[in-house]
Amino acid sequence: MMKLTNKTKFDVCVASHFGMCFGVKAAIAKTKKLASHTPITILGELAHNDTVIKKLENLGAKKSNLEDHNAKTPNVIITAHGTSDTQRKKWADNGYIVTDTTCPLVHKAHNALKTLILAEYTPVLIGKPEHVEVRGLAGDFPQTQIILNIQDIDKLNIKNNKIGIISQTTQQIDHVNSLLSEIKQKYPNAKVKYIDTVCSPTKERQTALVDLCNKSEIIIVVGGKNSNNTAQLAQKCRNLGCVAYHVQSPNDIKPTWFTGYKKVGITAGTSTPDEDVENIKRKLLQIATA
Ligand code: SF4
Repeated sequence: MMKLTNKTKFDVCVASHFGMCFGVKAAIAKTKKLASHTPITILGELAHNDTVIKKLENLGAKKSNLEDHNAKTPNVIITAHGTSDTQRKKWADNGYIVTDTTCPLVHKAHNALKTLILAEYTPVLIGKPEHVEVRGLAGDFPQTQIILNIQDIDKLNIKNNKIGIISQTTQQIDHVNSLLSEIKQKYPNAKVKYIDTVCSPTKERQTALVDLCNKSEIIIVVGGKNSNNTAQLAQKCRNLGCVAYHVQSPNDIKPTWFTGYKKVGITAGTSTPDEDVENIKRKLLQIATA
């Protein structure tokens, strides 16, 4: 907790883990380096954040769809969320020079799914069917059955009485565990093998959020308005009993929000760069000492 002066209206506490993960940071650094000396097209969104997108646009980076196979530059970038080998090959076969910034922990999820399939488990993936990472996993292994909610478990078609489960790297670990125990209950005689593919930055941020909620009355969650992950984070704070606001820039903050509160927390979505969090922190400290 950041204690200011006697005149401080409230204390400001920043989550111990927050914001952009190492996988997205590395992808952005690689993309910026390439964009600084050659025209590039990014296949999808490197990060759902205006600051990041504007910086890349200023470097001349173009944007295209991963599934289109039609870009305006010879060099194309696969984002940290990864894709299937089929997609990678299609771009290369169409003559593009492919730079792959897939996060190593997404590669790990692909390998885990492959391991389960080779061992003849019915592959089940916990995740959002429309998410680019999930599309990549299912693209490599089309026999994968994707579930997101408890209701989806009823639709599973289990062969061999063997169920192999992984999840999208950014799923909430408690949600994954609850689906896992539902599956075990529904198929008590099946051999269930679960490989934990929720990535460590996601787990650290989830634990840090609970800790932050225990220390704060009101939490400012920093991230792009189109960042689903940031919106989810704000909702999770509310579920944990805190007042939460999702903001993109210091201009979104209203000093009246903090009236009557003594402990204010800050966290950020996984696509939010550190400089956006710093700008918000500065604004909060100004309000706290005004
Ligand atoms: S797998 Fe985790 S560390 Fe890698 S890009 Fe995704 S969120 Fe970031």
